[in-house]
Amino acid sequence: MKFFLIILILLNFLTTAPKANEVNVFSSRHYSSDIQLYKKFTSISGIKVNVVSGNDEALQKRIIEEGSDSEADLYITADAGRLGLFDQKGMFQNSISPKIKSIVPKSLRSDNWTGIAKRARIIFYSKDRIDKEVINNLRYEDLSAPKWNNKITVRQSNNIYNQSWIASIISNNDKENTDEWIKNFVKNFARDPKGNDRAQILAVAAGEADIAIANTYYYALMLSGQKGLEQQQAAKKVVPYFPNQSDRGTHMNISGGGILKYAPNPENALKLLEFLLTEEAQSHIVKNTFEYPIIENVEPSEIIKSMGSFKQDLSTPVEDYARFQAVALELMLRAGWK
Ligand code: FE
Repeated sequence: MKFFLIILILLNFLTTAPKANEVNVFSSRHYSSDIQLYKKFTSISGIKVNVVSGNDEALQKRIIEEGSDSEADLYITADAGRLGLFDQKGMFQNSISPKIKSIVPKSLRSDNWTGIAKRARIIFYSKDRIDKEVINNLRYEDLSAPKWNNKITVRQSNNIYNQSWIASIISNNDKENTDEWIKNFVKNFARDPKGNDRAQILAVAAGEADIAIANTYYYALMLSGQKGLEQQQAAKKVVPYFPNQSDRGTHMNISGGGILKYAPNPENALKLLEFLLTEEAQSHIVKNTFEYPIIENVEPSEIIKSMGSFKQDLSTPVEDYARFQAVALELMLRAGWK
């Protein structure tokens, strides 16, 4: 009897023992600066941050397969389309506290995940071969005009940034109009899509195309010299242009995160998410990753600032990037976008 009593007491102790004060972050962001940021969070909050990094496919597969046994608290990734699709699978819980609601614009979050930084997907044109006047007032929609025939380079249709970008165009112009537009846009490609965003800028610098579509932080990364002298010189041969200034503004996407459905430490996950949205964390992020801040009163990095200020599209909900993603891919493939 005494023996059983001891076992019972021991079991009781094990099940009610306080959990370690920690938070488990599953992240596909491959920035060492994020790790420095988590250390900062630990020093302020006393909450230990354990990071599991990997590509999105692997991380999502693991979270789904482990289900309620998963130790993942917070999933952090790039692209609203990706966050939205994961959310559609029911993998998040409500992550939006009143604090987050008050500082993150409505279009940059859903109920279950929020943006933590922004990036713009813009035009980079050849300094030598394209006149500034020709580009003036350009909208994404204008890239289907015959005058751009054989001049545009962009990566493949399987790329999530492209799918989210096209989804935003569908959200604004509807499916039928985008279907018409995309056929002519794809006809203007200078080459079969290949390579990453930086490869598109390199192609313009090398004279293979006159206009590249790429995310802003890649250009900044090239200009910074962190990708070597060759890429730095290539970046100097192109000019960044922010489209759609006369209407909704330039297409913006996010890096973001959400608290997972089975998070063992949801309170700590929320604390970390809220920390990532403080001025201190935001300036750390934008300085190191060349993204745009998601909150006001934080300046982007010097290189990003030198690209100029512009009207951002903050009216199209980034949730739409997931909503229209399948349609976007369907139209892209039908138009022959490889
Ligand atoms: Fe990227």
